[in-house]
Amino acid sequence: MRLSVIVPCYNEEDVIDLFDVRVRATLTELAIDHELCYVDDGSSDATLEHLRALAEKNPETTRYVSFSRNFGKEAGMLAGLREATGDAVVIMDADLQHPPELIARMLELHARGHDQVVARRTREGDKFVRSLLSKTYYKFINRMVDVELTDGVGDFRLLSRAAVDALLSLPEYNRFSKGLFSWIGFDTVTFDYQNVAREAGATKWRFSSLLNYGLDGLISFNSRPLRLGIHVGLTLTVLAGLYAAWITGEAIVDGIDTPGYVTLLVAIVGLGGLQMVMLGLVGEYIGRIYYESKRRPHFLVKETNVPRDAFRGSGA
Ligand code: UDP
Ligand code: MG
Repeated sequence: MRLSVIVPCYNEEDVIDLFDVRVRATLTELAIDHELCYVDDGSSDATLEHLRALAEKNPETTRYVSFSRNFGKEAGMLAGLREATGDAVVIMDADLQHPPELIARMLELHARGHDQVVARRTREGDKFVRSLLSKTYYKFINRMVDVELTDGVGDFRLLSRAAVDALLSLPEYNRFSKGLFSWIGFDTVTFDYQNVAREAGATKWRFSSLLNYGLDGLISFNSRPLRLGIHVGLTLTVLAGLYAAWITGEAIVDGIDTPGYVTLLVAIVGLGGLQMVMLGLVGEYIGRIYYESKRRPHFLVKETNVPRDAFRGSGA
């Protein structure tokens, strides 16, 4: 059995060498046939030079591919999955927030027949607001989408060859991996591990990117948000009808009352806001159709030490 470790890297020059040493040590200790598949996601620092050096040091067990620009972690993971030749793969962050020692545990569970072995991190050490927001988000989103999304579950996981092939068969441009992992199904098992702080460098997440990521999760899987819009619209229409009937009735009984401009203002602003949100939502779905219909590759390859055939259909 051969294990491929997939590592998307974006500006990780500070930590990549340490990562390589730690992971190789773990894999050697486990005495398992392995390869490391690095993906340089258009880094603007010296990450690519580091990868070249790593590949030179261990040519047999190092594969790397470098993108022409930053295409995002999703594209990076996809490239890694295409590049990997193993019977199983483990996807890991380059910043050592995913402890390499856990690979042993994953392999053990995989040997028992699980196709997906998922490591879930506890939120210990996270900022309170951040973990509260995450918790609320996951509660909400699981009502909205068909797939099961779990707090603390990220991309750190082992996938069997069958699961990898299933993921590679999904051609969509807009990839929300958390959902795709769940969508493909297969025998999945989850275990917890202690949250670890990033070893070096800085996180690439900002609040706005988290918000957008959240919206992606909401919209990527079905059109239920649109359905929700219809429900809200219908409810408001019925309420407005009842209110109109009540006003009319009151006018007939008590005569014409002075109309309240506050009511008007609230109704106009409230409905205006709702309409903007709904319009944005519809636009978002149309935008996705637009992007999917262009059929652009997920990433472009600038440099690699593996046969470019591996990336066929990706514009490489
Ligand atoms: N990453 C990437 N492309 C990007 C952003 C991040 O390949 O555009 C990689 C990054 O190098 C790291 C992993 O994705 O290996 C997770 O990124 P980060 O540590 O910034 O995220 P966090 O751990 O804070 O969620
Ligand atoms: Mg990180």
